[in-house]
Amino acid sequence: MKKIFWDKGHGGSDPGAVANGLQEKTLTHQIVEYAVDHLFENYTGFEQRVSRAGDQTLTLSQRAKMANDWGADVFVSVHINAGKGAGFESYVYNGGVSSQTVALQNVLHGEILSTMRQFGNITDRGKKRANYAVLRETKMPAVLTENLFIDSNDAKLLKNEAFLKAVGEAHARGIAKFLGLSQKSKPMPSQQVPDGKLYRVQVGAFSDRRNAENLAEELKKKGYPAIIV
Ligand SMILES: [Zn+2]
Repeated sequence: MKKIFWDKGHGGSDPGAVANGLQEKTLTHQIVEYAVDHLFENYTGFEQRVSRAGDQTLTLSQRAKMANDWGADVFVSVHINAGKGAGFESYVYNGGVSSQTVALQNVLHGEILSTMRQFGNITDRGKKRANYAVLRETKMPAVLTENLFIDSNDAKLLKNEAFLKAVGEAHARGIAKFLGLSQKSKPMPSQQVPDGKLYRVQVGAFSDRRNAENLAEELKKKGYPAIIV
């Protein structure tokens, strides 16, 4: 069982960056919730925890300690940038880091950036290093993501729920790749056969649409899916 720790940046009395009617703490909550849901629905072999379920206030050291005490295998801190720039960047600690940490940054950075670019031109601000407390104090591979700027034109995308969902899912896929999680086997759609071919049976052809509708009704009553083409 791999242990994944998600840190929602800021929270409670610390809203993080605020601009354009948006609060960083709310956006980081949304992105992480989408990530958590996506992992839960699509992968197996892991447990995950979040630094705050709701709008609690936490210090940076408390976040790192929660992950360390639990024995997390990976730590991801999600943030939104400010300073009127544009684009995406990711961070690892600027002291000694393991090759695992570098690998985590590479896979997450690539997955998130390519997903964001499905929504428009996104600047790659690069894979960076900094002396951030949550990165310095955590004992496992740890990455912090800065997902666009709240106080620039980027805010348009940050107001788009589909974008936040996609960014959350990209975080989840990156973590799944890094940890080598197995995909959940999904129940096959009832009409589909394993090689992906689909065989349809036609049961009637009518020149009068009403006759077709009558037959479709009969079939539905008997439990068969019926469509009129
Ligand atoms: Zn932040």
